[in-house]
Amino acid sequence: MSGTLLDELYKEIILDHYRQPRNKGELVNSTCSANGANPLCGDEIQLQVTLVDNVIEQIAFTGAGCSISQAASSMMTEFVQGRPISEALVGVLSFQEMMTSGVPSEVDGFDDIDALMGVAKFPARVKCASLSWKTLEQALDGNSTATTE
Ligand code: ZN
Repeated sequence: MSGTLLDELYKEIILDHYRQPRNKGELVNSTCSANGANPLCGDEIQLQVTLVDNVIEQIAFTGAGCSISQAASSMMTEFVQGRPISEALVGVLSFQEMMTSGVPSEVDGFDDIDALMGVAKFPARVKCASLSWKTLEQALDGNSTATTE
């Protein structure tokens, strides 16, 4: 596939998540939450997570901002839902790596998320794309319970 076609495909994936965000809304039984903001662009996100035995049973977000920030939030929630905290944190690191390198991640389940790799070329937009992942990290911080001690 030529670079242009791939760019078009990626643009479509991002717009699809922006127009029809996955997991947008509020949870009634959330166990942890965090708010994130990217004042440079005006992006905001409120994240709610329901943890059961260190697994992200449910996740939902509300917020407003540019298409990159909102699409990235949708993609992030789709990826981490149903995964253990440990895998979600691997996602956080892998996304940061992708934003630094501009190379698609090898992580299983990052399919749509790879559409954001081109953002790495635009440092001002990296904050938009990373906002939801950083907010997730905050929400999970200190909420993992040790199972073997
Ligand atoms: Zn933004």
